[in-house]
Amino acid sequence: MAKMVDRVKGIMTNPEQIRNIAICAHIDHGKTTFSDNLLAGAGMISDELAGKQLALDFHDDEAERGITIDSASVNMVHTYNEKEFLINLIDTPGHVDFGGDVTRAMRAVDGTIVLVCASEGIMPQTETVLRQALRERVKPVLFINKVDRLIKEIQLTPEQMQERFIKIISNVNKLIRDLAPDYGDEWQVNVNDGSVAFGSAFHNWALSVPYMKEKGITFKDIITAYQEDNYKELAKKAPLHEVALDMVIQHLPNPITAQKYRIPKIWRGDLESTEGKALVSCDPKGPLMFTIVKIVIDPQAGEISLGRLFSGTMKKGMTVYLNQAKQQARVQQLFITNGAKREIVEEVPAGNIIGIAGVKSFVGETISAGPVEPLEQISHIFDPVITKAIEAKRPADLPKLVEVLRQVGKEDPTVKIEINEETGEHLLHGMGELHLEIIENRIKTEKGVDVKTSPPIVVYRETVTKRGEEAEGKTPNKHNKFYFVAEPLEKEVLEMIRKKEIHEGRVKKKDQELIDKFVAAGYDTKVANKIKNIYNGNILIDMTRGQVYIHEVIELINDMFEDVMKAGPLAKDPVFGVKILLMDMKLHEDAIHRGPAQVYPAVRDGIRGTMMTAKPVLFEPLQILHIEAPAEYMGDVSKLVSNKRGQLLEMNTEGAVVEVKAKMPVAEMFGWSSDLRSATGGRGQSSVIDQVFERLPDELQQKTLQQIRQRKGLTDAMLGIGN
Ligand code: GDP
Repeated sequence: MAKMVDRVKGIMTNPEQIRNIAICAHIDHGKTTFSDNLLAGAGMISDELAGKQLALDFHDDEAERGITIDSASVNMVHTYNEKEFLINLIDTPGHVDFGGDVTRAMRAVDGTIVLVCASEGIMPQTETVLRQALRERVKPVLFINKVDRLIKEIQLTPEQMQERFIKIISNVNKLIRDLAPDYGDEWQVNVNDGSVAFGSAFHNWALSVPYMKEKGITFKDIITAYQEDNYKELAKKAPLHEVALDMVIQHLPNPITAQKYRIPKIWRGDLESTEGKALVSCDPKGPLMFTIVKIVIDPQAGEISLGRLFSGTMKKGMTVYLNQAKQQARVQQLFITNGAKREIVEEVPAGNIIGIAGVKSFVGETISAGPVEPLEQISHIFDPVITKAIEAKRPADLPKLVEVLRQVGKEDPTVKIEINEETGEHLLHGMGELHLEIIENRIKTEKGVDVKTSPPIVVYRETVTKRGEEAEGKTPNKHNKFYFVAEPLEKEVLEMIRKKEIHEGRVKKKDQELIDKFVAAGYDTKVANKIKNIYNGNILIDMTRGQVYIHEVIELINDMFEDVMKAGPLAKDPVFGVKILLMDMKLHEDAIHRGPAQVYPAVRDGIRGTMMTAKPVLFEPLQILHIEAPAEYMGDVSKLVSNKRGQLLEMNTEGAVVEVKAKMPVAEMFGWSSDLRSATGGRGQSSVIDQVFERLPDELQQKTLQQIRQRKGLTDAMLGIGN
């Protein structure tokens, strides 16, 4: 038989025989066991290694095993109807603090296996991850895992077992319908057509209804196999990888099929253009279009950008263009995955997931031959809300720390890094306490830099609550004046931005689609025509009339609008939900008198000034948590929630377990995991379902503001208050 890598290379050139997939699962439902099993079954790792959580746990094991394991992706070759298929599986992290990683993985794939534990059913993270998949138009199939537990521990009858499956299936289908209103009906999973399978990743077997019919296996047979302790036979008759991979090949789309409906969702360019046609048809001969979804730092190859090639052919040595960085780079190496290992190749056509080295870039970057309309920015479902200051314990390590932080920021773009080379105090912004703890640990153990960090700090949001007074910003040379008014942004518009129905960015030319959306939200057509910028949930509108020089200064105004929205007037925390109206301006005729050095401070002062008169307030981040504990701790859990300014949203007891949905201010959640453990005799667990921002209670506004200002060393004068 041909060498595996040559077989992989052969299939790569035929997109109809490729499936790019990821797994959606709640932590502990068996994703690692399942993936290792698929790999072992497909002959890509040895059987002994399978199930020992090796292949996908890159950060721990790489050095010990001496081969490069790419946690980012693995692949398998599987024969179905006498044809060989290539299945690329991208890993997604289990913890919701890493929601960003999941969203990015979903950009690269077209299908997903929703993996659900038969005894626990759908859990909050199953829902969060599935939502992210559907948002990227990634099609689901269902795998019900740990069926052995239903038989051995709960001892269900064949009928009860089927009832349990039906319940899980209908819950998954309800979720699909709710989360994807437009194509949820089409994507319902169904036992009879084989888009649902079940089994035990632990014991290497799986079944689906069509497969049971084909092989003459019944529910009773499964139960008997366990009663007679010969479930190993089951694994021989119905090997997990065969059933699961058959399901993937049959029910999940190949790149050609998927790109037809995914591209209009993730790319805003003209579908009738050369690029558009190539993207929609996944054309290897079309213009190059590649998007980075993950960056891995490899000890030998250095920085490897992993991503999906949507059109064209990537070749080693090729010069490419980075659309966000606006610069060229050379592809020094090109990699594909072979099992869990990386292999160097010369060229790869569209439809594949590949790695490239030599291109220093960021996640979300679109790589092409020359400047193009880039792919839609990958949206993260949670924003960073926690910050820690980090510094090197030894001053000599300072340069190394800066380098390591840059790497960390690339490997995990949901961490935002602020580097201050002068003070040596750098800031890490993350999505939760645990998220930052893990990053910190990675810096210490993997990158070998000894660091100390400050206690975590909450990142608030600033907004305004009424229309402000018109404020003037004057350039230092007094030759130019700008007049601004701040207003609260309409809730509907904010919601449309949040849902990505309205796209963010500077509005450079007339965009009828955008105008229509604002008109639908109640805007006057004239006003909708004057929207200049949509940034982080804020908008800028130019209300001036007949200004001759507006086009010469508008980009400068945009720069400073974005600047103030990044760091608001109250406490330099991010601003959201604000509408800034440029009412009027007086400009010097001579462009020399209105360069950035003049315009910047004037615009900044004007915007901040009006916001300060618009009753600015702080909003705080809150997390919606799903908490589970033994029923006897129900009282302790609700006490803990209310002691931390939390709010109970739902409470259900199911058997011996109480399930609580609660809304908790992030500011009160430090040390949450250990508090929950001690309140529940070590047996409570929680996971994050959602994140929201709400107005900080009035009695805390002033106090919190003072604390932030003090910490940041902000004085009133610097904030432009009182002048
Ligand atoms: P992950 O967190 O989703 O990656 O889950 P793991 O693969 O690490 O599995 C979590 C735990 O469930 C481990 O102890 C596994 O051995 C166990 N597990 C996984 N699959 C099965 C299964 O099919 N049956 C049983 N009984 N246990 C399983």
